[in-house]
Amino acid sequence: MAIATVNPATGELVEEFAPHTDAEVDARIGEAHDAFLALRGTEFPERAAWMRRAAELLEDELEGAATMLVREMGKTIAQARAEVRKCAAGMRFYAERAEDFLAGAELADPAAVGASRASTRYQPLGVVLAVMPWNYPLWQVIRFAAPALMAGNTGVLKHASNVPQSAVYLDALFERAGFPAGSFRTLLIPASGVERVLRDPRVVAATLTGSEPAGRSVASIAGSEVKHVVLELGGSDPFIVMPTADLDAAVATAVASRTTNNGQACINAKRFIVHADVHDAFVERFTAAMAALVVGDPMDEGTQLGPVATASGRRDLHELVADARDKGAVITTGGEPLDRPGWFYPPTVVTGVTPEMRLYAEEAFGPAASVFRVADREEALRLANDTSFGLSSAVWTRDAEEEEFFVNGIDAGAVFVNGMSVSYPELPFGGVKDSGVGRELSAEGIREFCNLKSVWRG
Ligand code: NAP
Repeated sequence: MAIATVNPATGELVEEFAPHTDAEVDARIGEAHDAFLALRGTEFPERAAWMRRAAELLEDELEGAATMLVREMGKTIAQARAEVRKCAAGMRFYAERAEDFLAGAELADPAAVGASRASTRYQPLGVVLAVMPWNYPLWQVIRFAAPALMAGNTGVLKHASNVPQSAVYLDALFERAGFPAGSFRTLLIPASGVERVLRDPRVVAATLTGSEPAGRSVASIAGSEVKHVVLELGGSDPFIVMPTADLDAAVATAVASRTTNNGQACINAKRFIVHADVHDAFVERFTAAMAALVVGDPMDEGTQLGPVATASGRRDLHELVADARDKGAVITTGGEPLDRPGWFYPPTVVTGVTPEMRLYAEEAFGPAASVFRVADREEALRLANDTSFGLSSAVWTRDAEEEEFFVNGIDAGAVFVNGMSVSYPELPFGGVKDSGVGRELSAEGIREFCNLKSVWRG
């Protein structure tokens, strides 16, 4: 796959990049390693000042950065601006909180271990490889980079091949803000180049956000090198609607949760599991609201749904929908790629999905929703958990006991009650089952790439 920016709204090539040679990759890892030796000697306040400066730069350049995101992967300009702002907020969060999160602790009773004093402290590990996806080209990287750099680690980034402009922008950002040169280096390499980087002894750990096959591959290489790995993989999040739900709010949130980021977020709701008492009303209103979305040029302020990011992504999505239709599912709106330049796919609602259909088990990465009818809460929970994924989930109910039933019972990294799954710097983010291992964001996220050192003094 070429390392190139291709505008998904038009299909036109915007810019192509030559991949780095092995020698260039080695030199860049060397820079990141040298930067680590410098960065580990700095104090939190110094790093926090640089991180805040990086956040300011991003905000100063908001319009240019947002336009770059639209051109690289087709999200709407409003959502692109929101992504840039979220990055700046995440950077400030870690500038503010990193020192507290990594404070370590004194053992209250050191005599219990025969010491005069015993304590723990978190220390940085070194150069961490980040393999990142294209769907949030800045935010996915920042939510790794901000805690990593605040902890004193440095990073090398292998970004998705279709967002090289974002990758190059990020390469410069931290250095411009004052971090030692090389603290964050982009490697313009194909996926096949990841193994060589991960086996480099100067690279001590890896984080991958992306698909399950990519995660399995990187985890097996990291395992063979005994290197720590964090994986944030796919999801097919359930969105459960029970009879006591506020149906208007549930429908509006269902639409937003299925179509935000043009339906290409790992935590988009993808499977709508609706109690029989409200199923028909939900389908009717959900279909109408999905069909009413304004699909168009993502640079237009009024557009609500832009294109799918790549030609192959649209093909994969349509294959899932067509397979369901061919096996008897009913499509209440959408269902055919739009006949216009670019990779547009309409908001699509599929009902009557059964286990024989690929859509039942596979992640639909685009604006296609599956709706299921269930008889009771037990069936709703069984269906919610009948997936290899376990990233996030949402439950709509106003019955407190029922709420607790789902919050306890759903196998996922998060449950949102009467709301929509969103990532917040304050909350741990990650999955169970095939959705990944480890956590990003919050205190847990910054501690993932630290050495928790025990100190015993006699
Ligand atoms: P992808 O194909 O797995 O690509 C993600 C990154 O991994 C890219 O940089 C890609 O490089 C690289 N890659 C692909 N195969 C690899 C391999 N065998 N070894 C090493 N690196 C490899 O995923 P995607 O299609 O871009 O992104 C969509 C997926 O990401 C969805 O499943 C989505 O749910 C998931 N996702 C998860 C989260 C989360 O936090 N859990 C967040 C966002 C997205 P190339 O581009 O060069 O192929």
